[in-house]
Amino acid sequence: LATQLQSQLRTVLEGLSTVAEAGQVVGHYTWLSQYAADAARPGQPAPRVLTSGITLRDVRFRYAGAERDTLSGIDLDLPAGSTVAIVGANGAGKSTLVKLLTGLYEPTGGQITVDGRPLDELDRAGWTAGLSGVYQDYARLQMRAGETVGVGDVRHIRDTARIRAALDLADATRIITDLPDGLDTRLGAAFGGVEPSLGQWQKLALARSLMRQVGGERRPLCVVLDEPTAALDPLAEHDLFRQYVGQVREATRQGAVTVLVSHRFSTVRMADRIVVLDDGRIAEQGGHAELMAVDGIYAQLYRLQEAAYR
Ligand code: ATP
Repeated sequence: LATQLQSQLRTVLEGLSTVAEAGQVVGHYTWLSQYAADAARPGQPAPRVLTSGITLRDVRFRYAGAERDTLSGIDLDLPAGSTVAIVGANGAGKSTLVKLLTGLYEPTGGQITVDGRPLDELDRAGWTAGLSGVYQDYARLQMRAGETVGVGDVRHIRDTARIRAALDLADATRIITDLPDGLDTRLGAAFGGVEPSLGQWQKLALARSLMRQVGGERRPLCVVLDEPTAALDPLAEHDLFRQYVGQVREATRQGAVTVLVSHRFSTVRMADRIVVLDDGRIAEQGGHAELMAVDGIYAQLYRLQEAAYR
């Protein structure tokens, strides 16, 4: 696998015209080396589709050197085919929970299982290949517009049909049609190119994360959206999320879990289940109507935000 990845990366790098562009690709794909190293680690094959889902039992996590746990007593079921939103104040532990799900960090206690099998016993490369997502620190890859999306599936970086399909799914087609040279337009002021707005960069990152899905060769097992649309205005986020989740659901049927972290309650309410984190613990969980009826933290935050946008 490592050899295969090396040769794929070499092909991509040879196709780029400047050292700076190559640097961007290498930067974006540093996780590939981790991926290749993990591939050597023996493990049970990761599932190709999820049948039951992901569960967390009494999961605890403490950062190295920290004095207290960032997460504790986390019991959570993420059924296959569902969309789960995680909400909570800054520092509540939302991103940390996402990092545990992706396998970037391992829990300090408790267990995460995927279709009943412990995550830490799975073949890591297989699991990583099934992850798709946009994280808070999405990259602004300053290359040609088509490439910045295409690197999401490095084997198909020049596949215009796939790139257009991913752009469409991310509601980003308009960004490209407005560019002087369409997919060939250089992006990034540093390269003398066009500088997209933050919201446009974010939609392009979303399109990039969808490259592997539009091909249909490898279905995602877990789609992570960690504040993927923070740079968008509330209306744009609402529309995009509705379209995105609808289409991802259709594309993945029952075979994946979508995890969304957002501070926007108009988006969050569309999730099947909402998990409210408070200081590293689950304070409430349930559907929007259920949590409104409970009239706890979620209901309070929801009403506050509703009033703010009125
Ligand atoms: P936000 O809404 O601000 O993104 P969050 O709910 O996603 O916050 P996390 O990023 O998971 O919160 O952080 C939870 C806690 O863990 C915070 O107190 C944070 O300071 C701490 N933390 C996060 N990353 C690290 C790290 N690498 N090392 C030590 N502590 C960390």
